[in-house]
Amino acid sequence: MSFPRIEGYVVTEKLGSGSYSTVYKAYTKVGARSIVAVKCIDKSRIKHSGAAVDNLVTEIRLLKTLTHPHIVHMKEFTWDDRNIYIIMEYCCGGDLSKYIQRYGRVPEKQVLYFLQQLASALKFLREKGVVHMDLKPHNLLLHKGSDGKYMLKVADFGFAQHMSEETMRSVRGSPLYMAPEMIAGKYDARVDLWSVGVIMYECLFGKAPYSSATFKQLVDKIQRQDPIRIPPNASVSPGCLDLLTRLLQHDPDKRISYDEFFNHEYLDLEHMPNKENYDKAVGLIKRAIELDARGSYSGALSAYSEGLRFLLPAVGAETDALRRSALSAKLTRYMERAEEIKAFLKGPPQVQGIQTIQAIQEIRPPSTPPRRGGCCVSGVDGASYDFSG
Ligand code: ADP
Ligand code: MG
Repeated sequence: MSFPRIEGYVVTEKLGSGSYSTVYKAYTKVGARSIVAVKCIDKSRIKHSGAAVDNLVTEIRLLKTLTHPHIVHMKEFTWDDRNIYIIMEYCCGGDLSKYIQRYGRVPEKQVLYFLQQLASALKFLREKGVVHMDLKPHNLLLHKGSDGKYMLKVADFGFAQHMSEETMRSVRGSPLYMAPEMIAGKYDARVDLWSVGVIMYECLFGKAPYSSATFKQLVDKIQRQDPIRIPPNASVSPGCLDLLTRLLQHDPDKRISYDEFFNHEYLDLEHMPNKENYDKAVGLIKRAIELDARGSYSGALSAYSEGLRFLLPAVGAETDALRRSALSAKLTRYMERAEEIKAFLKGPPQVQGIQTIQAIQEIRPPSTPPRRGGCCVSGVDGASYDFSG
């Protein structure tokens, strides 16, 4: 098999193929030799089909404008007499379907980590008025950072459409992940929420809810709107189960709405572990320490509490054992300190209060943040953070 020749790039391997394209890995001939992924579309395959050309133009137009940490970034777009090439950022961790295949099931904590990233991308897409319409594990790419942590990125906007196009659309997408109302042909942006539910289900239980031996069985299950069965031996948290069942409602009117989804307590998008939120945690904890030192205990308590709400998911998402235990130790210390302040603020007798203040002052050294050059906490993104300022 020969690789396509793309001006300015050296193609090194095939990464995958989808409904109308083949994706290759390549690097730039000049400069830093940066690695890219090139989606290669044979023009002869799209010449005869108006829909395919439209899909492609939509994808290119959209990708160009969508810059988000959890959306595959399109760098440029070129063509020759045979092919059209979309040059994208390269995601080295394969796609989510391969990940599920490799691990069988994904632990709930990791599912939440991926789900938060997918939801943050969907929130961004929604603000831009974009519906994906072909969300499935194949189209969710993973990028593995130098710290070994995976970043999920939404790819393949071949089917994405602007919501303003209210015309009924012909059936698209992959039946396993396709919302039931798509079969009837009348549907809207809420189809993506169903697909999120199916993806979540497949991560947790290793197969999609309607996974079937034959295509006919699959279509039958969709048409009958078979009830979604949660495996009896499944051990998932109540919050996770609540979100899952609300996403997988056949009737889009009964399905969780976008706002409810983005604000779901289990998803807790506001505190999702990422660099930005880690920085927020650092800022809040620093502030708490300052207030604590000044004796402004109630301010310190609320800063500790809010800081910990950002820090806790970061510990959960940490995969590196060493970093996790360092982060965990910090977390415990700040939690204990917050508890001490809480007990002190609650403690009614004055005398005891004074004692508590003294006690707090005595125990201050452990809760005093490490000085620079001392013990720093490694962040979720692998960077080191020093809470001492
Ligand atoms: P199609 O529209 O033909 O389905 P996709 O964009 O979904 O094409 O890509 C097909 C496959 O190629 C993906 O499932 C993935 O395995 C691989 N792939 C696509 N884009 C990238 C990328 N940027 N980095 C790494 N692999 C990719
Ligand atoms: Mg695809």
